[in-house]
Amino acid sequence: MPARLLVFLCLAVSAAAQNRFTPGLRPFVTVDAPTVALDHVRIIDGSGAPPLEDRTIVIAAGKIASIQPSTATVPAGSQRLDLTGHTVIPGLVGMHEHLFYPSGEGIPIYSEEAFSFPRLYLASGVTTARTGGSLEPYTDFNLKRLIDSARMPGPKLHITGPYLEGAGAFTAQMHELTGPEDAARTVDYWAAEGVTSFKAYMNITRAELQAAVQAAHRHGIKVTGHLCSIGFREAAEIGIDNLEHGLLVDTEFHPGKQPDNCPAQGVTRAEMAHLDIASAPVQATIASLVEHHVAITSTLAVFEAFDGSRPPLEQRFLDVLSPQGAESYLAARSRAAGGANSPYPALLKKELEFESAFVKAGGLLMSGADPTGNGGAMAGFADQRNLELLVEGGFTPVEAIQIATANGARFLGEEDRIGTVSVGKQADLVVIAGNPAARIADIRNVTLVFKDGAGYDPAKLLESVRGAVPFH
Ligand SMILES: [Zn+2]
Repeated sequence: MPARLLVFLCLAVSAAAQNRFTPGLRPFVTVDAPTVALDHVRIIDGSGAPPLEDRTIVIAAGKIASIQPSTATVPAGSQRLDLTGHTVIPGLVGMHEHLFYPSGEGIPIYSEEAFSFPRLYLASGVTTARTGGSLEPYTDFNLKRLIDSARMPGPKLHITGPYLEGAGAFTAQMHELTGPEDAARTVDYWAAEGVTSFKAYMNITRAELQAAVQAAHRHGIKVTGHLCSIGFREAAEIGIDNLEHGLLVDTEFHPGKQPDNCPAQGVTRAEMAHLDIASAPVQATIASLVEHHVAITSTLAVFEAFDGSRPPLEQRFLDVLSPQGAESYLAARSRAAGGANSPYPALLKKELEFESAFVKAGGLLMSGADPTGNGGAMAGFADQRNLELLVEGGFTPVEAIQIATANGARFLGEEDRIGTVSVGKQADLVVIAGNPAARIADIRNVTLVFKDGAGYDPAKLLESVRGAVPFH
């Protein structure tokens, strides 16, 4: 009997300590009342509309219940937060996220950041993340399950299948397709496993892409691509839904371009810097993408990392790296700094011009971190940096926020639930100290992140991943 009594006591204790969050989540959730009022906030709602000043947002049952002038009354018993001097934007919808990061020292092997990256995204205000290619799809699925069942902090994940890569993969972590049948078979298998998107990669052939797109569309799944062997217009005609990175990876303007062949990147990059965005061929590509409803994902931060004159070195970035990780990253940074002839400053400018022209032509531009490259684009931090770079390229802060929120929600078919600060939507909100409409760099000053109405403390999330990257 004593043993049974002990079991009973343990169960009673654990039941008493249980709120709706498990021990894995509880330390990070600092606001969790049935009704919460965010008082005196500026709202940049994600729709592209001008900011609203001095509003009160009431959150109830995980949703946005009302948005009113701060003089209005709120339901009795609400937990009230005086957020004077703060801005609320929708949770970011990161459209090129990964759950892996370069393992370091230039070795083309990536470590799954199953522990740290979900926390980094959430702490940075990313409440929804579509992965842009997966190296460990089963791990990604399991993380999604842990997050969705409130056992682990992280964004709402939309999982991509393994890369659809052709022969010539640069990392041993990718399967190389053997032809169109293999492409269709791979898509069918992973669609059945539950992935909700696919990403085609650099060496895929047109026949493989066509087979993959047809199979994916049969399952109601969209395909994106970081292509090289296939130009943007060819891909649009094949029926791809989304292209990653933009002009800088479009090889169709390369004079020696052979069909189904990825040309040497160095040559392409040098030529890209001289490409005239207003010229007829580039304009024709933009028109074709818009006509075929192909969205583009802006990933400026990962390109910027190759420009040695920037980005600013941030302490918070170094804080999440292990000592070896920091050493490896700082070495990559100084290698990038070496080249006075580096094409990257000009390329970054060119890419910004292209993205601006694409949006002016009616294209759907989205945003993502892509924490790969030389390690300079960190999960979450690079999502924020992308907004700063979009503004540098001429978008207004309000437009940049729309690109990083509502546009991604629209592409995912989730615009009725997320993507803007609107009554009835899920309370996925980022609270920022300052005013990103006036100073976009304030986007880094996240003080609270709401996901489905629960308020997470970004400082606690970041503290929990100190020194974690790239080992977990
Ligand atoms: Zn990527």
